[in-house]
Amino acid sequence: MSAKVKAPADSVCLNHPDRAASTRCCTCFKPICGECAVRAHGEEFCSATCRENYENTRPAVDEFQERAARRRAAARRRRLIMLVILAVAGYFAYRYFRENPDAVREIQRKSEEAIQKGRELTK
Ligand SMILES: [Zn+2]
Ligand SMILES: [Zn+2]
Repeated sequence: MSAKVKAPADSVCLNHPDRAASTRCCTCFKPICGECAVRAHGEEFCSATCRENYENTRPAVDEFQERAARRRAAARRRRLIMLVILAVAGYFAYRYFRENPDAVREIQRKSEEAIQKGRELTK
């Protein structure tokens, strides 16, 4: 084998140095001509080995991507639930204090007391 065949130019077929490559192997990205391309799963491969490697690694890749997508969806759901809880809690707090102005004054009085106590403790 000549060095030219071992390291073909990107545009030349891996097996046919005199032919222009029409595509690249889906697994090893080597350039190949239309005649050499092994077609499977809507992809093109340079050899049966690369096709098998693709078939063996594809389920793991799919599973990994699926898991990542599920994690992202779960995080989005959690954020949404937190937002709803905060909105509902805020709404009820707003309604409660609007209907109970005494409660607002009571809280003000208690916090002023607490501040006062804090001042006395740090004296
Ligand atoms: Zn390949
Ligand atoms: Zn070829």
